[in-house]
Amino acid sequence: MSDSPSPVSFPRYVDARKVFSQKGFYGGELSRDQLPRLAGLLADGAFYANASLRFELDKRGRKIIEGEVEARLSVACQRCLKPLELRLADDIRLALVIDEAGAERLDDDVEPWIESEFKLDPTLIVEEQLLLSMPLAAYHDKTDCSPEVVGAKEALDFQGDKDRKTNPFAALEALKTPK
Ligand SMILES: [Zn+2]
Repeated sequence: MSDSPSPVSFPRYVDARKVFSQKGFYGGELSRDQLPRLAGLLADGAFYANASLRFELDKRGRKIIEGEVEARLSVACQRCLKPLELRLADDIRLALVIDEAGAERLDDDVEPWIESEFKLDPTLIVEEQLLLSMPLAAYHDKTDCSPEVVGAKEALDFQGDKDRKTNPFAALEALKTPK
């Protein structure tokens, strides 16, 4: 992307009737306030999120949204509940459709982004992609983890293996986001 022009800061909305033919290109750093669903899953600590989104019509006239997201986020370790820094990076390749039927007609090379309104909030797209790239449960490396702060039982489970099957699923439930 080094030969590309610099992106424009993320606007509150883009107009889906125009942004693709105008080849809108947006990007930059995002704050916690701009990503409230994601922020709700985070612990205090490092927060950095950056993304770029490019809106284009492809040769078949599909409304393509392409870009990248990267983030450095703090979540609670599911073993000791202390903050744990995550680094996320992902590519975005979506096609805008107005309904489920449109989504089903898409080929597998793109994921659908369903929105029937012409107002598109680009930060919602970034946030969804970051949510999808979050691990279901995050743990420190064993050497960095200190489960004794949670209590003796969890520490025993961690070391004893016998209940380890149940813990990741509990963590998964806790991290699931409403769709
Ligand atoms: Zn830990």
